[in-house]
Amino acid sequence: MADHTFRDLETAAYCPRKLYYRRRDGSPEVPEEIERRRRLAGDYDRLLTDDAALLSAPIEPDPATVRERLRAARDRLDDWDALADPAETDVYLAGKDARGIAHKLVGTDDGAVPSLVFAGRPPDQGVWEPQSVRLVAAAKALSWEREGAVERAVAEYPAYGVVREIEVTARRSGQYRRALRVAESIDGPPARTSNDAKCEPCEYREQCGVTTRSLRSLL
Ligand code: SF4
Repeated sequence: MADHTFRDLETAAYCPRKLYYRRRDGSPEVPEEIERRRRLAGDYDRLLTDDAALLSAPIEPDPATVRERLRAARDRLDDWDALADPAETDVYLAGKDARGIAHKLVGTDDGAVPSLVFAGRPPDQGVWEPQSVRLVAAAKALSWEREGAVERAVAEYPAYGVVREIEVTARRSGQYRRALRVAESIDGPPARTSNDAKCEPCEYREQCGVTTRSLRSLL
């Protein structure tokens, strides 16, 4: 029961071989820069009102864009107050299949939903598929624990001022189940992904023997 971590499933959806390395070598340490970006998700009110805080924050787009996006999220999201000042943070959840941390639980009239904070860049719309798998894993674990349906989750990309809600649709649940099957089936190094773009930022690319596009251009 709850054999896999949310992060394992996210990694399985990203690249099964990466999950193999991660299990074999242990999770790499999280760089301080990533931690600083994640911490921004606890500081939305200051980013909205304090110019000095915004200007010194480790954000990617220009400060005006980040503030504009956060204002739009505040106006759009029913959960905004709970996201900006959550009652529960870093909550450990153990579901039927997976366990892990929800960075925030944000409650509304229809019950709590999990929110996860991502340090990287969001896609133009929605969330990246591996992150969707992790969000669904958190939603399903919360649902298991609280014995009630959890049909939404929230993805936060604070360094970009982006906050997005996702629905736990049949398609997303299917991606989650696929990742579970992958995580359960790994007993040796799986094939490399054919998607070069995934290898560029991968910390295992050297031992994996992958020549990335940027390296090829130097050769
Ligand atoms: S370098 Fe590419 S193929 Fe190798 S583990 Fe990373 S993502 Fe997968």
